[in-house]
Amino acid sequence: MKVAVFSAKPYDREYLNAANAAEGHQLKYFDDPLDAETVALAAGHDAVCIFVNDCANADVLEALTRGGTRLVALRCTGFNNVDLAAAERLGVKVVRVVDYSPNSVAEHAVAMLLAINRRIHRAYNRTRDSNFALDGLMGFDLYGKTVAVVGTGKIGRVFAKIMLGFGCTVLGYDKFPSPEFEALGARYAKPNEIGSSADIISLHCPLTPETYHIVNETSLARAKRGALLVNTSRGGLVDTEAVIEALKSGQLGGLALDVYEQEADVFFRDLSGTIIADDVLQRLVSFPNVIVTGHQAFFTQEAITTICQTTLRNLSEFEGGVPLTNEVKAS
Ligand code: NAD
Repeated sequence: MKVAVFSAKPYDREYLNAANAAEGHQLKYFDDPLDAETVALAAGHDAVCIFVNDCANADVLEALTRGGTRLVALRCTGFNNVDLAAAERLGVKVVRVVDYSPNSVAEHAVAMLLAINRRIHRAYNRTRDSNFALDGLMGFDLYGKTVAVVGTGKIGRVFAKIMLGFGCTVLGYDKFPSPEFEALGARYAKPNEIGSSADIISLHCPLTPETYHIVNETSLARAKRGALLVNTSRGGLVDTEAVIEALKSGQLGGLALDVYEQEADVFFRDLSGTIIADDVLQRLVSFPNVIVTGHQAFFTQEAITTICQTTLRNLSEFEGGVPLTNEVKAS
């Protein structure tokens, strides 16, 4: 099957080629993301293979169908960048990678939490400049603290398990509570209780119209003063302007972001030699108690291997006309 692979980085090519050895598809790689300007590149391909910041809105999907494309294969879990209703209307199937390594993302969330709490990012820079002073580096014990996990699915549960291992009390919030989460020794709580008692809030729910800006001025005002916020899920969950105000007032004690609302314009490329036009991002990274990583939580050898193998299997299922194990449908 002919597949146009968008946003193809060197590591994507290496791991997709390795996985494709067993499947034999014709993969054509494009550096550019899929969007209205690049969609013409997909003409004549049966499928497009896309990542988190590619755009498969209704216009792009219509252009894809005109070019003969019948499958959108996401090489990620989230599917907020695909208009599923338009895909269904146009007869375009959508598949994703449901479960590659929840550990990769949960472990990165923990790494970011530890770094922001113990000021590792500042200590790293200081000691490189022979500054061994401790002023401004004080954190707090995680032991005994209360951690809120918003979205208690696969990643949220791994994160919860790790935090329980630190001796934290873990509270969960989920639209669809799961017994597996409670079996870990955590419990569900209402947003008000989470707000009043959580020292740390970590986001692990998908971005949907319902969860858009779930962290906003109101929820931040309800939070415990000085709480730490970790977002490794999707940038749109957080109202960035509101978070900046909460950081300025001290209401939010620290912020660790692996994802950012406007990340499509900056992430996954080296812009170190350019002037960044995004003032909000520049303001964010100027805070000493904020760390940003460029959507790298998934980026482990194990996760990429599984992502690529599953993506190739998804393509082969479509080609073989068998039921699609990882199909995403409009609800
Ligand atoms: P999952 O489907 O296993 O879990 C998501 C959970 O969120 C489910 O329990 C679901 O019930 C819950 N949820 C849905 N709507 C909700 C709402 N309105 N309020 C509260 N909870 C709600 O997904 P997962 O594999 O754990 O992944 C979670 C998210 O992590 C993905 O949607 C994706 O956005 C993000 N992610 C990020 C990276 C990264 O590299 N940063 C990598 C993979 C996934």
